[in-house]
Amino acid sequence: MRDSQNILSYKNLFSIVSGYLNEQISENDMSDWIKDVYTNGMSVEESANYTKAIINTGVKLNFSSINKPIVDKHSTGGVGDKVSLILGPLLAAYGYYVPMIVGRSLGHTGGTLDKLSSIPGYQPYLSIDKFRSTVKDVGISIMGQTKDICPGDKKIYALRDKINMIDSYPLICGSIMSKKIAEGIQGLVLDIKTGNGAFMYKYEMAQNLGVLLKEIGELNGLSVKVLITDMNQPLGNSSGIACEVLESIEALKGNGPDDLIEIVFHLAKEAIDMFDENFSREKFDKLIDSGYAYEKFKKMVYSHGGCLKKFNNMNYSHPKFKYVIKSNSSGYIKSFKTREIGEFLSMIGGGRLNNSDGIDNYSGVTTYKKISDYISDGEPLLEFHCSSEKKINNLMKHSGDLFDISKNKCEKPSLVY
Ligand code: URA
Repeated sequence: MRDSQNILSYKNLFSIVSGYLNEQISENDMSDWIKDVYTNGMSVEESANYTKAIINTGVKLNFSSINKPIVDKHSTGGVGDKVSLILGPLLAAYGYYVPMIVGRSLGHTGGTLDKLSSIPGYQPYLSIDKFRSTVKDVGISIMGQTKDICPGDKKIYALRDKINMIDSYPLICGSIMSKKIAEGIQGLVLDIKTGNGAFMYKYEMAQNLGVLLKEIGELNGLSVKVLITDMNQPLGNSSGIACEVLESIEALKGNGPDDLIEIVFHLAKEAIDMFDENFSREKFDKLIDSGYAYEKFKKMVYSHGGCLKKFNNMNYSHPKFKYVIKSNSSGYIKSFKTREIGEFLSMIGGGRLNNSDGIDNYSGVTTYKKISDYISDGEPLLEFHCSSEKKINNLMKHSGDLFDISKNKCEKPSLVY
């Protein structure tokens, strides 16, 4: 299906993607095509054409009537990564507009949509008109992919999953960037996570993904900034579902843990720098201290039908069942098995991996110390919690060593590479 120059043109790719969506191409033939891309890859130009083809299976939003930068952020996912819930409202408070399409939990990593859905009433899917008007009125809207946004991606992703062919750089990048570009944004900041809790566990993998995502974005007219950030330990103190919303609200009120706040500010700077050379940390601190950033979050939740009063009455900070893992020696925390922590969290309802019962809003894990911190023998380090006694009991049987302690001092990993 390549053209005379032996490349997959936009026209070729649109006929493949839309043909599969409209059932003119069978599942078998599409599987063969996916296998071919999985094995042989696609050039950057082809990947950009593929991305455009997916976008054009649905609606591309247009915010040209807004005279301010329209931006978004995407993370490749990690444990405790709640940055979108803080950065989005912060950018909206700064005066930028943020139409954010996000995903549910994937593998061992948590999803922004599952976290927001723990707020009673929060509608995770809006009509295009409501999404657009929320962005215009509030400055930010966070929702999931609907049938209007890149329907070609939804169907192809399901097939990639079924035939176990998710792991292809051009297909992953096309899938991620199509949804972002369809939002009608002008600038995107990418948070590519690397480390033992990230999909891109080696730095080179993160770098390759970042380069391809950036090139695809730029070939489609988008400004893209890439940050590669550390995922060798859970981000912040709370990882899970509602507990991450609680931590994000605290961060928006000025009480966020240092590592989380540092990442948020680094990404904010990148997003602002694309359109405005006068980034100032003080200005961002003021947006938090004045309560304006939190106000944006509240308004967005309200606009999605959510009720923070009911959220506060859910007692999410007091889950019924807990399993505390204590250190069995004194020393310095050398490492966490972050991916395993995410997998155990999924088992108790924090994700979808090995979890047939669905999401438990009360599920989470608290990380009491970070790499390089000193811990005494018998001190708690990790505390898993959820609303199912059976699941907590099951977790106790399975969770092995999730961290290493060293007698010697250990270095803090860099937050941003
Ligand atoms: N996230 C996506 O949206 N698509 C992929 O293919 C992988 C991660």
